[in-house]
Amino acid sequence: MTEPVILVVDDDPQVLAAIRRDLRSRYREDYRVLSANSGEMALNAVRELKARGDALAMLISDQRMPSMLGVDVLSKAREIYPIARRVLLTAYSDIDAAVRAINEAHLDHYLQKPWDPPEERLFPPIDDLLSSWQAEYRPEVTGLRLIGYQWSPRSHEVKDFLASNLIPYRWFDVERDPDVPQLLEAAGAHTQELPVLILEDGTVLRNPPAAQIAESFSLKVAASHDLYDLIIIGAGPAGLAAAVYGASEGIRTLLLDGHGPGGQAGTSSRIENYLGFPSGVSGGELTRRAVAQAQRFGAEMLVPVAVSGLSVDEGYKRVALTDGRELLTRAVITATGMTYRELSAEGISEYIGAGVYYGAALTEGHACRGCRVVVIGGGNSAGQSAVYLSRFAREVSLIVRRENLNATMSHYLIQQLAALPNVQIRPCMVAERVGGEGRLQKIWLKSLVDQSVSAEDADALFIFIGTRPHSDWLPPSVLRDSKGFVLTGRDAEVAEDFPKFWKETRDPMLLETTIPGVFAAGDVRAGAMNRVVSAVAEGAMAVRFVSDYLART
Ligand SMILES: Cc1cc2nc3c(=O)[nH]c(=O)nc-3n(C[C@H](O)[C@H](O)[C@H](O)COP(=O)(O)OP(=O)(O)OC[C@H]3O[C@@H](n4cnc5c(N)ncnc54)[C@H](O)[C@@H]3O)c2cc1C
Repeated sequence: MTEPVILVVDDDPQVLAAIRRDLRSRYREDYRVLSANSGEMALNAVRELKARGDALAMLISDQRMPSMLGVDVLSKAREIYPIARRVLLTAYSDIDAAVRAINEAHLDHYLQKPWDPPEERLFPPIDDLLSSWQAEYRPEVTGLRLIGYQWSPRSHEVKDFLASNLIPYRWFDVERDPDVPQLLEAAGAHTQELPVLILEDGTVLRNPPAAQIAESFSLKVAASHDLYDLIIIGAGPAGLAAAVYGASEGIRTLLLDGHGPGGQAGTSSRIENYLGFPSGVSGGELTRRAVAQAQRFGAEMLVPVAVSGLSVDEGYKRVALTDGRELLTRAVITATGMTYRELSAEGISEYIGAGVYYGAALTEGHACRGCRVVVIGGGNSAGQSAVYLSRFAREVSLIVRRENLNATMSHYLIQQLAALPNVQIRPCMVAERVGGEGRLQKIWLKSLVDQSVSAEDADALFIFIGTRPHSDWLPPSVLRDSKGFVLTGRDAEVAEDFPKFWKETRDPMLLETTIPGVFAAGDVRAGAMNRVVSAVAEGAMAVRFVSDYLART
């Protein structure tokens, strides 16, 4: 297979030659660096690449060109290569326009001319963008292949498991992909055995459970030590941050997750408000970096390993796993976050994974190409998903119970949605019923204004209507609020049952629960801010309290 392409466009021959030279000096081993001296020429090159089946990893375009602005070249190229990274090359005087373009046209980055020295000002952002493209890119024929029915819940589960464990794969839909019969024959597999995974070395897994996939990819599921200083439960942003800080401070740290790393943030297509990423970062990319960082400091991570209980024995904490094993630790951080509330519309449960998805926009985005998609919810997660899905879907309807989004969604997202021609915001509406033959095909929507009900075609439905905490596994001695969120610090102290459970002479620390040495961080905690940055901050802070606790015991 030929290498993926980086295409550079600039009408100034000197600038074009300079950037081409710098890019080739660093990326020529892995990428072909091509150039064009006008927007039209670049778009022709993009069409030719597509026709040949080549991969376009990145398009870098100058903004001010006589016949076409860079931002227009980048926007048009996106229709052909939706995941290629798009970078605007600007002069200092055009930076405002570049920042506007990042917001309006969803560009990935802008580079300021001149970029000397390239080691500082060109290569680091390009390295980042290329590695995030690599993570999202599915090569045409090589690598891991997953064959299944698009509307089968089992296929969705396998996709979801691979995605949350950051394992890249290529998806083949039995009903749409002409290569499938050949692939199945070569693998010696039948359609009754779907979903089928074909590994790079030719191994075939038929309808595999998560544990079998984990084993095939050598995901670690057994602990290396008998006793840990700290076990962190949940590898979302809070747990990952705790693992980075715990391990970096020399605390013997184990991180567990029942699914895979990333948590809710891992399902986010673009986190735009996380410090240090001016043009946003996908949840998958942030997770990949955090996992690498935690492992570099020596944190141990086990996935998929779910926790079912916690008990205390002479100050030591026993963490019970759903597979019957038990782990021992001196301190615990629970960072188990929360999950989506279920939609009560009639028929919903029948179609989960078969057109109805809770927070899975990122995994299913590609499958929605040309489809009519409905997103339900008025919060940021619903808004982000609608923006992301609009890249693939023919039409996206955002169904909102309230009159508008002002009280529930960030201003920047409302603006982004308003600028997308294929997204329709439909206020004062609720979903009443769903139906279809074997998969979702129809949705009945009710107007809260005149109570009328209309049936509409829908190929996929994504639900983001609030959440509930993952705290059922904790013992009663960990006090929670009426919704199940874990009470910590001052909030715990004022709870009625506090004296019944807290027997220490000291007060609980800020993120400490009503069991000494058991801390909570992130969305599972009562009063959490439900943001990536606050979850990360709490994960890091919790480690500081763990250190204090360990020093005392
Ligand atoms: C689609 C979407 C988009 C979002 N976009 C943004 C954004 O742009 N900006 C922003 O700031 N915030 C955003 N958020 C919110 C943000 O993602 C959350 O606030 C953040 O992920 C909370 O982190 P956490 O670590 O506390 O919990 P979570 O992310 O919920 O992670 C909890 C982890 O615990 C694991 N777990 C749960 N129970 C168990 C158990 N019993 N055993 C083992 N493991 C368990 C889960 O598998 C999960 O991986 C978004 C959320 C969603 C859903």
